[in-house]
Amino acid sequence: MRYPYLIVDLNKIEKNARYITNLCNENGIEVVGVTKGCCGMPEIAKAMLKGGVKFIGDSRLDNLKKIRSSGYKKELMLLRIPMESELENVVEIADISLNSEINTIRSISEISKKRGKIHKIILMIDLGELREGILPKDTKDYIRQILKLDGVILSGIGTNLACFSGILPTYKNMKELIDLKNELEDFFNIKIPVVSGGNTSALKLIENKEIPSGINQFRVGEAILTGTDVSGNRIVPVTYQDTFILVAQIIEFKEKPSLPKGKLGRNAFGNIPEFIDIGIIKRAILALGKQDVDIKGLTPLVNGVEIIGASSDHLVLDVTKSSQEIELNQEIRFKLNYSALLSACTSPYITKLFLPD
Ligand SMILES: *Cc1c(COP(=O)(O)O)cnc(C)c1O
Repeated sequence: MRYPYLIVDLNKIEKNARYITNLCNENGIEVVGVTKGCCGMPEIAKAMLKGGVKFIGDSRLDNLKKIRSSGYKKELMLLRIPMESELENVVEIADISLNSEINTIRSISEISKKRGKIHKIILMIDLGELREGILPKDTKDYIRQILKLDGVILSGIGTNLACFSGILPTYKNMKELIDLKNELEDFFNIKIPVVSGGNTSALKLIENKEIPSGINQFRVGEAILTGTDVSGNRIVPVTYQDTFILVAQIIEFKEKPSLPKGKLGRNAFGNIPEFIDIGIIKRAILALGKQDVDIKGLTPLVNGVEIIGASSDHLVLDVTKSSQEIELNQEIRFKLNYSALLSACTSPYITKLFLPD
């Protein structure tokens, strides 16, 4: 195997998907499996489907296209508000998209009409997170206009929390979304089938039995991919966290001082690093760097091994207290958090190895 490589355990991802889907389904919530954390790898989309997710969503059309080309037959949801410049492809590739701009929805309507298609719109509501979404007070105005358009249907309303500002989903804001849906249904005398309430961060509401009834869709990535919930700073119960393992090779192994010598300037990234003198230590350099992966999101799987730092292509370890014997050319394995996973999957320099193969 060519180093560095990423081991993808498809069985564990499938099991995570099954656990999350069962938990949600028992509470009347369907799950959209979100693949953006792994660049829309079709193998992972397939594992999620086997685990029971209803269909796949991703923030990038390129990823959705890759999944479609792999033979995927179900609906696809575009999670990021579409760019004007990609709308032809949005209609071509995605069946559903999250939206917050009436002009964009109008353009989607024009394109769909021309192609004889019906594109589903989930209108995003901003409940305080201040990323995408219209303010609740503006929903009637938006919906009045959407209902007049051909080529699109209002499939639902949704919200996204805990991604940008870190505002957590609560009983209160979820209830606000349901109340809004009920008000809109009465006012316009329509049915709004989907209330797309949350992502991984909302799972805790289900676990604590604090989810108001009426929320019927979650879009879940992180909990399935890494078994974690970064917004709640926790592991999601019952799930696996060792779904992805990064493996890199040692290219230098020497005893050297812990303190650099000479006049100190800035490093390649413009920082002035700080070092503590703890005498001579055993240092190992791995052929892996910031160009491949978010180093802060890596945890060595050998006890006692610590990351000192990294440049673009070198990762320096202190292996003095390693529980295992260390030698040149040996491989070192790491667990990844969501951010490290995202970067490792994006790096063309990291080979992907699927288990079972
Ligand atoms: C990323 C994203 C999700 C999935 O979030 P996770 O925390 O990975 O579960 C859901 N909805 C939207 C709009 C997203 O951008």
